[in-house]
Amino acid sequence: MTTTTQSLHTALSARVTGRVVTGAAPGTCFQTGTAHRSEVTVAAGGPADVAAVLDVADRHGAPVTVHASGHGLRVPAAGGVLLDTSAMCGVGVDPATASARVGAGATWADVAAAAAPHGLRAPSGSAPSVGVAGYLSGGGLGLAVRSDGWAADHVRSIEVVDRDGVREVTGGEVFTRLRGTGPRSGEVVTAVTIGLLPADPLTGGGLVTVLGPADEPGDPAPLHAWASWTAGLPDAVTSGVSVVPYPDLPFLPPHLRGRRVLRVGVTVTGTTAEADRWLAPLRAAVGWDDDTVGPLDPVDSARVYAEPEFPHAYLGDCVLVDGLDPAALDRVATRTGPMAVTGIRHLGGAAGRAPRVPDSVRGRDAAYLVNALAPFGDGAVDPATARTEVTRILHPFTATGTHPAFRFGPA
Ligand SMILES: Cc1cc2nc3c(=O)[nH]c(=O)nc-3n(C[C@H](O)[C@H](O)[C@H](O)COP(=O)(O)OP(=O)(O)OC[C@H]3O[C@@H](n4cnc5c(N)ncnc54)[C@H](O)[C@@H]3O)c2cc1C
Repeated sequence: MTTTTQSLHTALSARVTGRVVTGAAPGTCFQTGTAHRSEVTVAAGGPADVAAVLDVADRHGAPVTVHASGHGLRVPAAGGVLLDTSAMCGVGVDPATASARVGAGATWADVAAAAAPHGLRAPSGSAPSVGVAGYLSGGGLGLAVRSDGWAADHVRSIEVVDRDGVREVTGGEVFTRLRGTGPRSGEVVTAVTIGLLPADPLTGGGLVTVLGPADEPGDPAPLHAWASWTAGLPDAVTSGVSVVPYPDLPFLPPHLRGRRVLRVGVTVTGTTAEADRWLAPLRAAVGWDDDTVGPLDPVDSARVYAEPEFPHAYLGDCVLVDGLDPAALDRVATRTGPMAVTGIRHLGGAAGRAPRVPDSVRGRDAAYLVNALAPFGDGAVDPATARTEVTRILHPFTATGTHPAFRFGPA
């Protein structure tokens, strides 16, 4: 242990209630493509711990890097203090105000579990293991974003700690920036009060079809069918599509191995009968191999997009678009090359309306968000090839902007 590390460790141990350890020791880290290299890690127990960490680090001239779940890890700690928020994971639901006070280290799974007994749900996204604070700082594109609006629209107040101490913000520049753009260096969100939504009725699931072998150009027709279907849907229907060329690996289910698979994830804020009515044209247009759309329990929301839940190394980027160029869609279905996932989320509806309290969310005027994600390492391609593949997928789309939430991996 160097003298600086020892001195940081001693000073922090004297000031905080949370665990202080030497080196980088985050509780969990979903992104394995890069790693923190801090001198010390503090599992902060609350805002007082966070204020103490900022003060001690300041006195030592040490940088502070904040870590929650690691889903959005891009710039790892290089020395200094790793401030792990995962111990601040309390969730308290107030049914009277249909809201939850959520610790910054909580995941959406924590919020969903706490809200469910009250018949409430959160404006959460595709992966329940994503952290609440990181998700909200990008705006939060939820499963029912066309019905609910962005998750940031539901935030009522934010507890934030900086060099000046702990404060609760409900308006003004900081409140606007924290909902859509994110905290500045030296600002740490420690808790959020967020409005919850009535859980019933909710319908959702996935429609799956195989486009062909993974190493051959796939049939673009189902992708075009989804794109056409999204025109003219009511706000109650939110969907996204993914195209995944699965490698032929033994740990994958036999029906996916070596196949190019298209999945439409659908969430309808309505009954199954209503969802069936809206889905009828899409169901008729494609010969689906699997259809799991039915009553959706918000605690089971991962089944809409069925994304991998194990930590891995990935790079990704995204573009916002006004429309889906048919040639760009063809390219998504027919491209061959290294394994990379293309996802398209349908925006508009409530996602396009101005929030009651101004925020800095990007994408309100976009019709779709297109993202590409390429795994690397562990038998997959090297990072440079993964980055090139992501660029190749997004390049044919006419971008009007980008979105901070869907930019992944080492910067
Ligand atoms: C599989 C997967 C699915 C996803 N699905 C969606 C989706 O449906 N909708 C959507 O909008 N986004 C989605 N995302 C993107 C996700 O919202 C972002 O990656 C988000 O940044 C993750 O936040 P985190 O806290 O979990 O991750 P972390 O990597 O721990 O944190 C992300 C960033 O936020 C900072 N940060 C975290 N907590 C704090 C805090 N308390 N104070 C200050 N800074 C903090 C960290 O320093 C880091 O820079 C998804 C990501 C993945 C990997």
